[in-house]
Amino acid sequence: MDFAFTEGEERFRAELRAFLAKTVPSGDPPEDFAAEFEYMREFQRAMYEGGWVGIHWPAAFGGRDATPMEQAIFAEEMGRARAPQLVNRVGINNVGPTLIHFGTEEQKRRYLPGILSAEEIWCQLYSEPDAGSDLASLRTRAELDGDSYVVTGQKVWTSYAVQARWAILLARTDRTAKKHRGISYLIVDMEADGIDIRPLRQLTGASEFNEVFLDRVRVPRTNVIGAENEGWQIAQVTLAHERGANYAIKEQTLARIALDELLSEASSSGAALEPGLRQELARLHIETEIMRFMNLAMLSKVGRGITPGLETSLVKQFWSDLSQAIGEASVQALGPHGILLRGSRHVRGAGRFAQRMLFSRASTIAGGTAEIQRNIIAQRLLGLPRS
Ligand SMILES: Cc1cc2nc3c(=O)[nH]c(=O)nc-3n(C[C@H](O)[C@H](O)[C@H](O)COP(=O)(O)OP(=O)(O)OC[C@H]3O[C@@H](n4cnc5c(N)ncnc54)[C@H](O)[C@@H]3O)c2cc1C
Repeated sequence: MDFAFTEGEERFRAELRAFLAKTVPSGDPPEDFAAEFEYMREFQRAMYEGGWVGIHWPAAFGGRDATPMEQAIFAEEMGRARAPQLVNRVGINNVGPTLIHFGTEEQKRRYLPGILSAEEIWCQLYSEPDAGSDLASLRTRAELDGDSYVVTGQKVWTSYAVQARWAILLARTDRTAKKHRGISYLIVDMEADGIDIRPLRQLTGASEFNEVFLDRVRVPRTNVIGAENEGWQIAQVTLAHERGANYAIKEQTLARIALDELLSEASSSGAALEPGLRQELARLHIETEIMRFMNLAMLSKVGRGITPGLETSLVKQFWSDLSQAIGEASVQALGPHGILLRGSRHVRGAGRFAQRMLFSRASTIAGGTAEIQRNIIAQRLLGLPRS
């Protein structure tokens, strides 16, 4: 396999690198979560104005038709520039590609531009208290009443529900159908009457997740994406985008940024002279590079028109272990400073090290839990019998 980049790809890299050099804000992001969110929204807006958001979307919808290798370069350059995340990630990675595939012309025209510009933030109302890994057990129901659906139920772990203007929601529209059927895929106005959002405070102190209660929320029938009662198949497409190459690329970028910050902190404080930590830092660098090569291999398949299959589980599992190892090494390298959170007087690196360690606990849950991924690898890749 040839991992060398072509001249065109190197030109793409140079153009992006120059743009990031003048666009990535210097200094630390604000400590307060709401202020940090606005800071990231501002960054996405600047990236959008330069044409650098949703680069994997078709040009006809505001993207760049970026090839898989250009997407890999994008990840490397965002990491190199220590750029903030594109904050409307649910919109860019999940909603946009789903609408482009299944949406009506009116839905595409109405919603796609606001996703790229971060004018309208999106969230994903899938998980419920009794429907996570087994999502098809969801109980939120949507009943047709004239030209609208009336939606009642409870969702949980909804990232950015407070900031979101719109949501994609899965609800049961035919209660007599089998578990995986009779589910529809709706666009919900997060400002509609009957929506109650309750933030959940996390280990890190931030409230990124929320519980969302829906009490007879009216959703126009024109807000259904695809065919009524066929939402499960559409949700699979959304999840494939969420867990696919773009997810892996984003996480590769974050792992590289976290490791580089750790290396520079450990060098300047002298912690890198401690033999055990030094060994661990070298190991983490090797693993971060392995993740990059795993992603390149996956993207090379995508470039040849092959949909990645089991690699997504391998990469997901590899990344979640890696991100937890980087989080733990960061805290070890900082000694007593490593456990200080944002807002503490003696905090170093704006509290990012402890924050990363604490948030990394989520990596073995989000986007498919570690147990589910390992079972998939055991059964489908290793051919082990079903337990
Ligand atoms: C950072 C983060 C962001 C998220 N954002 C969103 C969001 O925006 N919108 C949204 O809808 N949801 C979101 N989620 C929720 C996420 O999709 C669920 O947490 C995930 O699907 C797991 O479901 P659960 O938490 O109900 O756990 P459960 O499915 O109840 O699992 C509990 C435990 O049992 C294990 N388990 C379950 N089934 C099996 C099995 N068959 N075999 C072996 N072990 C099993 C699991 O591995 C886990 O350890 C987010 C979660 C995280 C961590």
